[in-house]
Amino acid sequence: MKFCISMALPLLFLFVGCGSSEKTVYVLPIEFRIPAKKSDFIKSYSPYIQGKKFFLDPGHGGNDRNNVGYKGTAVEADVNLNVALALRTFIIEAGGIVQLSRNKDTSVDLKDRSAMANKSGADFFISIHHNAPGQKEDIWTNYTSAYYHATDSDYSFEPCQKDLAKYIQRDLAYAMRNSGGPGSFDGTYSDYSIYPSQGFSVLRLAKIPAILVECGFTTSEFESHRITLNEFNMIEAWGIFRGICRYLANGIPDIKFIKSLNDTSSQNINLYFGIKDPAGIDLKSIKIYIDSVSYGYFTFNPMKNLLLINYPVGNYGSHTIKIIASNNKGNYAFPFYYNIFVENKTGN
Ligand SMILES: [Zn+2]
Repeated sequence: MKFCISMALPLLFLFVGCGSSEKTVYVLPIEFRIPAKKSDFIKSYSPYIQGKKFFLDPGHGGNDRNNVGYKGTAVEADVNLNVALALRTFIIEAGGIVQLSRNKDTSVDLKDRSAMANKSGADFFISIHHNAPGQKEDIWTNYTSAYYHATDSDYSFEPCQKDLAKYIQRDLAYAMRNSGGPGSFDGTYSDYSIYPSQGFSVLRLAKIPAILVECGFTTSEFESHRITLNEFNMIEAWGIFRGICRYLANGIPDIKFIKSLNDTSSQNINLYFGIKDPAGIDLKSIKIYIDSVSYGYFTFNPMKNLLLINYPVGNYGSHTIKIIASNNKGNYAFPFYYNIFVENKTGN
């Protein structure tokens, strides 16, 4: 059926292709209509992007071109690559640094994608995908979603990943005018919702903050046509880029080890860490784990940005301390782990 929505909705807000039997409906961001708006946006966020390193992973490709979408024309591997290349252009324009797991139609193993990201020295790993539903005959399901690894109650959960997913999801879904799907309040999902206790291997194996976006469904009758258009891939990339910009503008707390002192009177080792952010630290957000078990013997002095952990001198051997904290804008620090070794000086 020929479909022309422009008669029903104001022309100013919609780009509509009515020339074929396929329907193409999307909204050009204001920054694409008025070039000055685009350069103003990039300029205003570039202080936050400047020097940041991004490892972009266009999913699939090469031997893996199985998701071909509705009518077989929306090849996920190609769409992912197009979006990643457009996103690279925006990030570079803002002063960021980009590496890709692939820049052409080639095969890259899943484990190699995370390994490359881990070796790259990047600050963030973003895997770009387009979705397909469980049932082949389903040509209606379509939404935008962003995945982070593990769930809040899991030791391997890193809340900064959920922050990044949240920001990218919001702006990507807005750019595409898609909802976030029925299974989540804000369109972000734990990867355990797909593979319980395992998650996606690209996220599980990544040692840097990592997320995976499923921009839309290649299998959707509605989505399948527009995601094969370069201009729409640029809109998708712009949505991801806006999310990154707004995430970074809210800051990321910095955690560092300062010193450890033996307190003979209390039989404790006092471990001092600095936790700093221009927006201030949310005191309720601070969580400490020692050897993956929640640990409550700590205080935080917000005036000095100083965290003090009291640890018994009798717990000999090596221990791993994990510190979680967010700033007052809700952004969590990068994963922070610190190893200590408690020496047995008693000779027992
Ligand atoms: Zn995929």
